[in-house]
Amino acid sequence: MRLRAAILLALIFGGTASGATASPAQQLADRSSTFLERVLHQPVEKRTLVFTQQMEAETALGLSPGSVLAEYRHTPHIYMLPWLHRGLTHRASADAGLAGRILVHEQLHQPKCLAARPGDPPGLARALEEGLTEAVAQDVLPAWFRRFAPTQDATMWAWGYDDEVERIRTLSRKVTGSRTWRTRAARIWRKDTLFLPCAQRWVVLDQAIGRFG
Ligand SMILES: [Zn+2]
Repeated sequence: MRLRAAILLALIFGGTASGATASPAQQLADRSSTFLERVLHQPVEKRTLVFTQQMEAETALGLSPGSVLAEYRHTPHIYMLPWLHRGLTHRASADAGLAGRILVHEQLHQPKCLAARPGDPPGLARALEEGLTEAVAQDVLPAWFRRFAPTQDATMWAWGYDDEVERIRTLSRKVTGSRTWRTRAARIWRKDTLFLPCAQRWVVLDQAIGRFG
């Protein structure tokens, strides 16, 4: 039932990635992933947006319906709550800023890197994945907003993962010997680390955490 509802909603709101019949929200998502690829020089998968109240991930994670805004795991889709659809299609609307931020964040995620390793502290893999994803998202958001929603202020919307982002920024500063996390070297370290193959990413992060905490 849930699956059928998701498919129906996908047909109504999402459509297919890259198709001539793609909905305006999907078209924005596809243009966004092309833009991110160009800015970051890394592959950014075109995932199909599915707007549904009942997200697959909520069931998988044991969360209550509606408690997650958007989710990318376990599927080639990005699931989003329906109200975010308005933000993606009406870029002057009050929800546009947050919807844009969430879209970029979800498009940058590397789902394969979420697997926890035996012996790691609980939640470590997820915290690092969220921190890297959101740190890189915040690095590119000013350019993204200039391109897709110039009337919106990219810094205005709180989204979360502040502690995770702070940890990644601190690591990037220390590893690159930068005075602040805003240097080009630190920014490149964050971006390169996010897009490394997972095994290699763990090597880089283990080294960084081992040296700098
Ligand atoms: Zn995330």
